[in-house]
Amino acid sequence: MFLSKKIIITFFGPPGSGKGTQADILAAKLGVPVISPGELLRHERDEGTALGRVAANKMMHGELVPDKIIEQIIDKRLNKRDANRGFVTDGYPRHIKQLKYFEERLQNTIVDNDRIIAVYIDLKDETVKNRINGRRVCDCGAAYHLEHNRPEREGVCDHCGGKLYQRRDDRPDIVEERLAGFRRRIKPLLKHFRERHKVITVSGDKSIKETEAEIWQELNNLIKL
Ligand code: AMP
Repeated sequence: MFLSKKIIITFFGPPGSGKGTQADILAAKLGVPVISPGELLRHERDEGTALGRVAANKMMHGELVPDKIIEQIIDKRLNKRDANRGFVTDGYPRHIKQLKYFEERLQNTIVDNDRIIAVYIDLKDETVKNRINGRRVCDCGAAYHLEHNRPEREGVCDHCGGKLYQRRDDRPDIVEERLAGFRRRIKPLLKHFRERHKVITVSGDKSIKETEAEIWQELNNLIKL
């Protein structure tokens, strides 16, 4: 679609809430890219770059990668032309310090404060744990779920034919830690977004299609696309 003005959407949600899937769907509808530090870092790690090597250990344990690294990859990504008309972020900003950096960075681009919108996908801890157990991913960036979003052929990516696998940081003990960190950090992030920007809250406990429709509806209620 042709956007009337630049728009920036930030997806928040616990791991397994479906925010990556919804971020992809919404970005495709709006015709803007998704910026996901997690994806960018996995790429750097797999390419064996210096940056990727520093990040790899933290990622393996579900810990946050140092801000300096995140700033580098975010800067690099935001400088690409396809981000000019807006973008959707998945997994960024993760805490207030990153949010402040992000806002500073956005001052150089022209975007109204009320066109910076957080979509918060809420989900209970128990559901998160069940969901993550079934998550499978592909190196091309596609994500599936053994129950809710199955690939056509078991263990094989629909998009590229690659082999699906469980992310190391999706293992139960690591998920506990990621979830605790998320719960701690999300409150101040949402508070800040409510005060300065806008927030849409939806339940992640519905089908992908239902959540997609709810986000679209709320977004259209909120601003002129
Ligand atoms: P994700 O794919 O968003 O779950 O991210 C996977 C891993 O990448 C996280 O567990 C962190 O180690 C790292 N990561 C992703 N985004 C960030 C971020 N904004 N700040 C710090 N580390 C991040």
